Amino acid sequence: MFKKLEELQQYIQDNEIKMVDFKVITLNGRWRHLAIPVERLNERTFTDGIGFDGSSYGYSKIEESDMRFIPDITTAFIDPYCGVKTISMIANIHTIGKKEGRFSGDPRYLVEKANKYLNNLGIADEYMIAPEFEFYIFDKVNFGVENHHQEVFIDSYEAPWNSNSKEDNKGYKAPFQASYHLALPYDVNNDLRSEMTLKLLQMGIDVKYHHHEVGSAGQHEIEVELGNMVSMADNTMIAKYVIKNEALKHDKSATFMPKPLYGEAGSGMHVHMLLRKNGQNLFYDADGYSGLSQEALYFIGGILKHSKALLAFTNPSTNSYKRLIPGFEAPVSVCFATGNRSAVIRVPGYVRNPEEKRFEFRSSDATCNPYIAYSAMLMAGIDGIVNKIDPTKEGYGPFDVNVFDLPKEEQDKIEALPKSLEEALEELKKDYQFLLEGGVFDKDFIDNWIHKKYEKEIKKIMPVPTPLEFQLY
Ligand code: GLU
Ligand code: MG
Ligand code: MG
Repeated sequence: MFKKLEELQQYIQDNEIKMVDFKVITLNGRWRHLAIPVERLNERTFTDGIGFDGSSYGYSKIEESDMRFIPDITTAFIDPYCGVKTISMIANIHTIGKKEGRFSGDPRYLVEKANKYLNNLGIADEYMIAPEFEFYIFDKVNFGVENHHQEVFIDSYEAPWNSNSKEDNKGYKAPFQASYHLALPYDVNNDLRSEMTLKLLQMGIDVKYHHHEVGSAGQHEIEVELGNMVSMADNTMIAKYVIKNEALKHDKSATFMPKPLYGEAGSGMHVHMLLRKNGQNLFYDADGYSGLSQEALYFIGGILKHSKALLAFTNPSTNSYKRLIPGFEAPVSVCFATGNRSAVIRVPGYVRNPEEKRFEFRSSDATCNPYIAYSAMLMAGIDGIVNKIDPTKEGYGPFDVNVFDLPKEEQDKIEALPKSLEEALEELKKDYQFLLEGGVFDKDFIDNWIHKKYEKEIKKIMPVPTPLEFQLY
């Protein structure tokens, strides 16, 4: 890790690097980038940064769109996907004009502010999280939305031994909706996942394991070790970048879309979490429910109380809600449990190590902006701790039975998660105060988010007829 410009310049010289690249996050959680020749890298790069049009990134109105980004030297990494030797840095966004400085709505700044708020309250030193990456790998994706006629052709498993074509089919077919931990020869993308894993390790991301997931049309998963939220938000971007680019390098396409295929499992990005103070895991108590402490339960209470609003950030696409339906191990209920996969919070029963005792938030998917989603989750959890929201007293469970086996009256008492992006945005309009605490989020940011989601996504997607509607009506 570099701290000083001289160190970076020395490295550039020693390794014959030709380009310096900057990656900047858009409001929607995608990276954009810009590259400069190495000769242009100097002190001013880190003081003046580079000017850009913030409105194209989703941040501001056209009339005040001038912004600049300033790279964070500590994030420098060799970009393995640039043909010309390139070193890359993640950048922070700054405002230009009357009020110069960090842009309050920069997602990287939100994470820092949320973390500082946690520290200032004296609750904990670190918010440790571990996202799980689920994704599909396709051989070919052809889609077109020309004239609002949609065509999507997806081919997976083109490998000869799995091919659908008559000539070379060896008969090894992944079992429909039952491909969890599938072994070779069915698991045709095992090596590709290993390649992804090696790249991630090389880039300092601690991969726990990889495996085939339930979806038979090529669903996969890579899980990483717990890490501090601040670095894990960057690492989430790097992980998605590596997974997509490595797939493309092998002439394939990886997608994190929450529900790419009807009838197959969706892809979530479950987030495991715990709080650490003085090196101790605050979420562990041998005598507590499922090994969890009272603090952990309050944190769960906060997340559950605000979960409907949270989904506007953790599940921010119209497609997200095609995943959150019963029958596919995706959560549908506002409750918590050990083991139960339809609960939005699940305590993994297999964790034995007290240092790792934790729970997972199962709703989130990879269409989120990880910086915003993680900050919002933390703010909800903090609210739970500050206001002592006990989930066992609020009717949130624990429900350690299949929720669908409960008597109807009991089932009706459990709240359901929002069923559309619109519903989640309406919930956020009613419940955002917890995000404003400590000056972490500001109201303008939330208003802009809601506005953009309606204008750029809901209003665009809603009027497009689908092939199924054509058939039905
Ligand atoms: N794919 C499931 C989801 O949509 C999760 C499966 C699992 O528990 O890993 O959340
Ligand atoms: Mg999984
Ligand atoms: Mg999980």
